[in-house]
Amino acid sequence: MNHSEEEKNFVITIDGPAGAGKSTIARLVAKKLKLPYLDTGAIYRSIAWLLNEKQILPTEDKKISAILKDFSISFDGSKVLIDGRDISKEIRTPEIDKLVSPYSAIKGVRDALLQLQRDQSAKGLVAEGRDMGTVVFPDAALKIFLTASAEERALRRYKERIEKCETANYDEILKQVNDRDNYDINREIAPLRPAVGCVVINTTKMTIDEVVETISSFAALAAEHRMSQKIE
Ligand code: C5P
Repeated sequence: MNHSEEEKNFVITIDGPAGAGKSTIARLVAKKLKLPYLDTGAIYRSIAWLLNEKQILPTEDKKISAILKDFSISFDGSKVLIDGRDISKEIRTPEIDKLVSPYSAIKGVRDALLQLQRDQSAKGLVAEGRDMGTVVFPDAALKIFLTASAEERALRRYKERIEKCETANYDEILKQVNDRDNYDINREIAPLRPAVGCVVINTTKMTIDEVVETISSFAALAAEHRMSQKIE
């Protein structure tokens, strides 16, 4: 895809449940299409880390709003700095896996992050998360919903941890994947669900390359469609 003026705010959203491969796929699609990449899970994880550090419970609405009025966050891909401290490793622990969904369900947290996420799209974007296509970028050129069976997703997470020489228990990971999905699907604000007009891709039996190729083909179609709409 060329970087002409028209493609500058070309946004692709990739949503889906935990462990569906969104990060890997989104990063590769972004690289292939030469677009910036935004990992919004990392942002929500950072907020969970920050609030947990300050020993604030998800029920303490007022304290949360106060903290979120006065903090600085910067990110580059999956690297995140909060108030200048690089916490990229700290946000990938089983503890944050457990804490992140309850904090992410809070209205004050989601409101504080909405504009911040939208501000990243000026040069085009591949944005991955849970509500990219439904709430943050509802007018995206292409919306993808990536999914896979819970067992397959848990197995992928399990293998990832073993490869990193971390301890891992498949049954525990499966339970956690299901718990997190339940939280994200059933919350009142910005629940996880396929966006109107999205392409649903079940990756259970697909390789990473196949998924990237599929999304790239849809992206080419979406770019053509945008061009023809401008010409009409
Ligand atoms: O993508 P990842 O698994 O790192 O996301 C961690 C958690 O952050 C999700 O389970 C969800 O609770 C929250 N999240 C969200 N909205 C997003 C991205 C992530 O609520 N756009």
